[in-house]
Amino acid sequence: MVLRDFFLGQRSDETLERLRQADRRWAELRTGRWTIPRPIDQSRESLGEIQWDVVICGGTLGILLGAALQRQGWRVVLLERGVLRGREQEWNISRRELLIFVELALLSEAELAGAIATEYNPARVGFAGGYELWVRDVLNVGVDPIYLLERLKATFLAAGGTLWEQAPFEGATVHPDGVLVRAGGTKLTARLLVDGMGHFSPIALQARGGGKPEAVCLVVGSCAAGYPHNETGDLIFTFTPIAHHCQYFWEAFPAREGRTTYLFTYVDAQPERPALEFLLEEYLRLLPEYQQVDLAELAFKRFLWGFFPAYHQSPLRSPWPRILAIGDSSGNQSPVSFGGFGAMVRHLQRLTAGIEEALAADALSRADLCLLQPYQPNIGVTWLFQRTMTVPAGRDVPPHQINDLMSGVFAAMEQWGDPVLKPFLQDVVQFSALSQTLPLVNPRLVLPLLPQVGLPALLDWSRHYLNLALYSALYPTGQALSPLFPHLPPRARYVCDRLLDAWKYGSGGDYHLR
Ligand SMILES: Cc1cc2nc3c(=O)[nH]c(=O)nc-3n(C[C@H](O)[C@H](O)[C@H](O)COP(=O)(O)OP(=O)(O)OC[C@H]3O[C@@H](n4cnc5c(N)ncnc54)[C@H](O)[C@@H]3O)c2cc1C
Repeated sequence: MVLRDFFLGQRSDETLERLRQADRRWAELRTGRWTIPRPIDQSRESLGEIQWDVVICGGTLGILLGAALQRQGWRVVLLERGVLRGREQEWNISRRELLIFVELALLSEAELAGAIATEYNPARVGFAGGYELWVRDVLNVGVDPIYLLERLKATFLAAGGTLWEQAPFEGATVHPDGVLVRAGGTKLTARLLVDGMGHFSPIALQARGGGKPEAVCLVVGSCAAGYPHNETGDLIFTFTPIAHHCQYFWEAFPAREGRTTYLFTYVDAQPERPALEFLLEEYLRLLPEYQQVDLAELAFKRFLWGFFPAYHQSPLRSPWPRILAIGDSSGNQSPVSFGGFGAMVRHLQRLTAGIEEALAADALSRADLCLLQPYQPNIGVTWLFQRTMTVPAGRDVPPHQINDLMSGVFAAMEQWGDPVLKPFLQDVVQFSALSQTLPLVNPRLVLPLLPQVGLPALLDWSRHYLNLALYSALYPTGQALSPLFPHLPPRARYVCDRLLDAWKYGSGGDYHLR
């Protein structure tokens, strides 16, 4: 099928143009023809009086943090290049994780209930006729981004926050006592600049110096009505062998306007990797077999796509004082996840408390803010998993290698039940779960992968694994000592609290089954 003809039939030329725009960016990234913006510079002169405590650039996930900080009494201004409005497509997350909005008094219980657009159970994990299992209550809640952002915006404004819409960030100069920000043709000053402008934030691109990502997750899909009634979903599912040097993974779940289905695959950023347009053609070719439906029976509400770069150097540590990345621009999630909303919600309490302490202690140097972007060994270990689910560009591997491995790994995990399975499926790796699972995976599935993965990646993984063990031991020790922290001077307390957070989140200690 030629996608152009399909879209013409759907009268969606605009959709095709937007897809091609995204493809042009993806091609620039693969070929290294990526212009590095330079919006940040530094000055030695002091600014004098500073207008705001925090300026947040980018409103989609920025409003989560903006509302939380403003509620605590900090002076926050939020800059959004367009209008602050959530996208139409629901964000999937687990119900428990959403409680933080009520705990931080950002939403009432009724508002939180209003933000939940859908909920389904159970969800399947399965691999091409191999192992199959079903789980409940994992990433099975669909949040309505339009409603959520509208309510958070109301909380933010009611607490005294300032929102500038149609105010695109243009650049900033970092001074010893603050940041001068140029946006929407005007200027403002703040003590701290928070970058929430997404994966392609000009600040993040400058900070990364134009380096290529080490891994990319490509996603295409749609939301459509007309499927046979189905109250279940798929968290990760395959039914084909490797094709075009990609293993296609699928995700599906009931949505407010029908059913959402995604095809996603893990690749590196080599020039020969497929375009999103090609993947969307593959998606439409395979969707009838996947969902047992004829395309002609479907009424497409929207098509969806994205490419998610992942960098070894993550979360991104700002090379400048007074600048901190959050959300997608920070690269805070693992290379196997494209759940950036979920990752931000998981870290919302940590970031809010950490930024508050940084502001109170005036701990806004580069080193201080790096403590808010700690190394997390539990994310580090997932790089090897990403590697094993990626077919190296130009290399032929047995067509069912990834399906067989995934079957073997999930069969091993299911033997240990929910405490092992559920955190893993929510992008949280814990030492005990990993150590219980690994010995059960059949070596015949793992050994053929070693040449593909390579010795450096294995050694790197071993380092993260040992650190995961260390962090898992340090976290309870830190917890035991934490009652002493309030007696320390503000800056020392700030450092101790950040170390405790690093051990907690870096070991998956933030995850609780119930
Ligand atoms: C197909 C697809 C499905 C997904 N499904 C899920 C899911 O189920 N669950 C989940 O947790 N996550 C999901 N995600 C990921 C989630 O959407 C992102 O992680 C989230 O949108 C990231 O938010 P962000 O604010 O960091 O970046 P972005 O969404 O990129 O938003 C950046 C914000 O900054 C603004 N901005 C950009 N440039 C400027 C500028 N110069 N000046 C001022 N403002 C600017 C933009 O207008 C926007 O408001 C999905 C993503 C895709 C593409």
